[in-house]
Amino acid sequence: MHRFRYQGDSLFVEEVNAASLAEQYGTPLYVYSAGTVVDHYERLLLSLRELNPLVCYAVKANSNLALLRLLASRGCGFDLVSGGELYRILRAGGDPARSTFAGVGKTAREMEEALEAGIYSFVVEGREELEAIDRVAARLGKRAPVALRVNPDVGAKTHAKVKTGVAESKFGISAEEIEALYRELPRFCHVSLRGIQIHIGSQIRDVEPFEEAVRRVIPLVEIARDRFGAEFFDIGGGLGIAYEEALQSGDPGWWENKAQWATPAHYAERLLPLLGPLGLRIVVEPGRLLVGNAGILLTRVLFRKDRPQKKFVIVDAGMNDLIRPALYGSFHQIVPVTRRGGELFEADVVGPVCESGDCFAASRRMAPAEPGDLLAIFSAGAYGFSMASQYNSRPRPAEVLVEGANHRLIRRRESYEDLVRGEAIDEGAAAPEFSGRADGANKGLTLDRVNRKEKP
Ligand SMILES: *Cc1c(COP(=O)(O)O)cnc(C)c1O
Repeated sequence: MHRFRYQGDSLFVEEVNAASLAEQYGTPLYVYSAGTVVDHYERLLLSLRELNPLVCYAVKANSNLALLRLLASRGCGFDLVSGGELYRILRAGGDPARSTFAGVGKTAREMEEALEAGIYSFVVEGREELEAIDRVAARLGKRAPVALRVNPDVGAKTHAKVKTGVAESKFGISAEEIEALYRELPRFCHVSLRGIQIHIGSQIRDVEPFEEAVRRVIPLVEIARDRFGAEFFDIGGGLGIAYEEALQSGDPGWWENKAQWATPAHYAERLLPLLGPLGLRIVVEPGRLLVGNAGILLTRVLFRKDRPQKKFVIVDAGMNDLIRPALYGSFHQIVPVTRRGGELFEADVVGPVCESGDCFAASRRMAPAEPGDLLAIFSAGAYGFSMASQYNSRPRPAEVLVEGANHRLIRRRESYEDLVRGEAIDEGAAAPEFSGRADGANKGLTLDRVNRKEKP
């Protein structure tokens, strides 16, 4: 259950007025609710409590240090896919011994870093990778804990770009290959098989594909346990969230009401009978579920463009800030930060980036939106900022974390200087300092206000 609500006509994030955050920090602005993240984490933990689960938050969903710290301080582990993410969890005080390292293309350097850090387990996606980890571990005089990622070949009703558990995908190892690997495993002297992992995709809302994948893989898990002393079964992430009704679903009952959905409660209810008897530690790797509906993107309307065929609402956030609609055609609820009444109208909500794909909503029936108005784009906590870029040389937005009545900046807005950091015009020489006013924050509509320095 999330903590974004209207109080009267003003949108609140926990106990903080969203409009005041936009005033203080500028737009576009990511705003996260700490209470929502913690609530989602605790509900998942509670629903799986009989399995003594290890929850490994998938860092790639949102890798801000403050969110990592928030979860780490509650005992959450992490699911990593790069050396950079390992660096982040170490910086945030996360525990590598409660973290797994997945991904189809780990470099030798990343393997070394994870081994040195004391990772709980690598998740190995192929035979050659297993050989590479074995070599790296031999060189360091260590034994690398590994889990094999099985591709269970189940289709899940989700977007093609986030489907990972089908035979044609690049992820995981087929059941036949796993059996061959089991025979070879004793030859790999510097790895020990600690577990089996599956991850079938993302934004999966029915529980059936999860159940089917677990069912298919259990025989391989039992062999890993009995023959190799494996201690865990990692059932991956991928639990979907409500995008279509993100705002309404703040209703405390929604987890329970959506019985057909893969809510944590329903997911647990269906999987417990399969997983309990294995007697293994169960690892889950939720990303979106924990943070997706814990974040919104605040944006200000710059202009209206009304054509006979179509109306456009042009906002100051773009696809570089939130790429999901452009990349996946995904739906995000868009609501006014201050409700003013008036008739709904139909419009495209578009950003300033020079791409036709820079569109947050097409032909959306929405509340009236005029230049200067603030809009909140919902469900932006996962795969929002973490996929943001500086495309069109747009400084990335600031991020703010709200806890009750308190709020703090957890990532400052990037400056123009940040855009050229590390670049050089001539060999060895950095670009000359720019002495003009450089700031990407839109605090209002006049040029003077746009250029004003952001308050710290
Ligand atoms: C992306 C990913 C996750 C998290 O997926 P969500 O849909 O955000 O829960 C978990 N595990 C692995 C291996 C991933 O690649």
